[in-house]
Amino acid sequence: MKAYTYIEHGRFGLLDKPNPALQDPRDAIVRVTLASICTSDLHIKHGSVPRAVEGIIVGHEMVGIVEAVGSEVRSVKAGDRVTVNVETFCGECFFCKRGYVNNCTDPDGGWALGCRIDGGQAEYVRVLHADQGLNRIPDTVSDEQALFVGDILATGYWAAKISEIVPDDTVLIIGAGPTGICTLLCARLKRPKRIIVCEKSPERRRFVREHYPEVLTVTPEACREAVLANSDRGGADVVLEVAGAEDTFRMAWECARPNATVVIVALYDRPQMLPLPDMYGKNLTFKTGGVDGCDCAEILRLIEAGEIDTTPLITHRYPLGRIAEAYDLFENRRDGAIKVAIDCTE
Ligand SMILES: [Zn+2]
Ligand SMILES: [Zn+2]
Repeated sequence: MKAYTYIEHGRFGLLDKPNPALQDPRDAIVRVTLASICTSDLHIKHGSVPRAVEGIIVGHEMVGIVEAVGSEVRSVKAGDRVTVNVETFCGECFFCKRGYVNNCTDPDGGWALGCRIDGGQAEYVRVLHADQGLNRIPDTVSDEQALFVGDILATGYWAAKISEIVPDDTVLIIGAGPTGICTLLCARLKRPKRIIVCEKSPERRRFVREHYPEVLTVTPEACREAVLANSDRGGADVVLEVAGAEDTFRMAWECARPNATVVIVALYDRPQMLPLPDMYGKNLTFKTGGVDGCDCAEILRLIEAGEIDTTPLITHRYPLGRIAEAYDLFENRRDGAIKVAIDCTE
């Protein structure tokens, strides 16, 4: 089969690889129909994910059709259309039982797919712990509608959930990249009084205004003043930091009101300063990533009910054979690219 592979630092390539086979009774093999490219794939390419293994097939955001299941798999069967979870988790350990699946203690637990175990920018993918890692897509939900459920939408949903937004809140979301927009979509479900999105790209600010006209958009330069002017309590009640840029961690706690919750969704390239003397007395609560992606069934239900729609994020489509071009477009954000869908059946 064709499989997009992490060859070495700085280089991915489309290689011919053997089709994956069941190796454990809890495995499933999924024929990938649609995959996507995530910023984390670029992090692997450029060496900022040290645990990524050279030679691995990349891709951790995909949907497909179950081809085969091991003897212990109960929740899906061959022929089911499914979303694949970015995280591998056993469902049984201390962390899994409490919903902290990102810290699953299974040797393959956490973000392993397309990083330490073969991923899904390929024709087929083996999914470990398939009862946990796969969710059936409702018949009325299309592949495109479900494409982001297992990764960026799971992240946005988790971030909104742990942020404990209440209806009276002013919420600041820093970053309107794909994950930022998914976070925005899930934060809206909590019906806060006001959402402010801070984003440096004019193109992305325009995208947010066009699709979510009730959201206030600001530039990083104007962010702090805009938050102060639009909050009743000297800052945002909840801040969600999804940008991971040079100054956005500082911006996150500076724009928060006293006793606010600051959720760090972003994956930073380098260590961040926590200047405790400067924030002393602000009594902030920080919550940090990565995602506990165990609410995919609920997310699919919300999509089916028309509460979440991420299809406007898919700005481009490519066949698997031209995935290198898709990466180039995505990485350089050409032509207004937000997310690229890769058709793995062509
Ligand atoms: Zn990702
Ligand atoms: Zn576990």
